[in-house]
Amino acid sequence: VLETRGLCKRFGPIEVLRGIDLQVRAGERIAIIGGSGSGKSTLLRCLNFMETPSEGEVLLDGVPIGAPRRHRDGRVTTAYSPAALCRVRQRVGMVFQQFNLFPHMTVIENVMEGLRTVKRLPRAEARGKALAQLHRVGLAEKLDAYPARLSGGQQQRVAIARALAMEPEVMLFDEPTSSLDPELVGEVLRSIRTLAEDGTTMLLVTHELGFAFHVATRVIFLADGVFHETGTPDAVLRHPQRERTRAFLASHA
Ligand code: ATP
Ligand code: MG
Repeated sequence: VLETRGLCKRFGPIEVLRGIDLQVRAGERIAIIGGSGSGKSTLLRCLNFMETPSEGEVLLDGVPIGAPRRHRDGRVTTAYSPAALCRVRQRVGMVFQQFNLFPHMTVIENVMEGLRTVKRLPRAEARGKALAQLHRVGLAEKLDAYPARLSGGQQQRVAIARALAMEPEVMLFDEPTSSLDPELVGEVLRSIRTLAEDGTTMLLVTHELGFAFHVATRVIFLADGVFHETGTPDAVLRHPQRERTRAFLASHA
């Protein structure tokens, strides 16, 4: 579904991602783990083009996004049109650490927003789709509340419903529970687990290693801008082959 080839991202002199080759196939649930500052958020943001990759390609269903430019020195960069990026963002949903809801809109208006402005659905149809997703995250009874009146866990579930309403092919989750109070983490993880059981394709950055173990089909340890170790949850989390992975897991146990 979603793929990168040789993806690199630099911020000035800092090379955060150094040639990432990733393939997310339909129905896969990939957990990305790694230390603070290792580039996990940057990778997700490049997949959604909130950051422009410095080099390399992002492909959806085998089709590169943007127009590639091959340079004399062999590097490949890409020119992106706003229309192409808008299409990508409809196919790739994202949920952030900070929920980023619109504070002046009610729950249902938040979930309908993209359906109305991007997909240009009629009001009644957008409302129906939004309600269906709010049911899925268990928040249908809060539809007329404003975000400020909801708990962090409820706000994050609204953010999940909002992303789902666009019917993306892949969901990206960037530490969706790390800004929540401990007692609210469970409800958000349960919503994500329900999506997993429904077969939703997802890429999940998380520090919840236990959750990753149970929900992911594949785990990737990101370090030094590359995929240091990749494998099944059992292989990477229980039987890591590389010293660096072991050290990371030991510090997160
Ligand atoms: P965390 O676990 O703390 O969320 P992370 O793995 O998500 O960390 P990133 O947020 O991707 O890490 O950041 C990777 C590196 O890129 C860091 O050194 C960060 O300072 C740098 N970085 C990220 N965004 C920018 C930016 N817009 N400008 C400059 N440097 C940036
Ligand atoms: Mg991050």
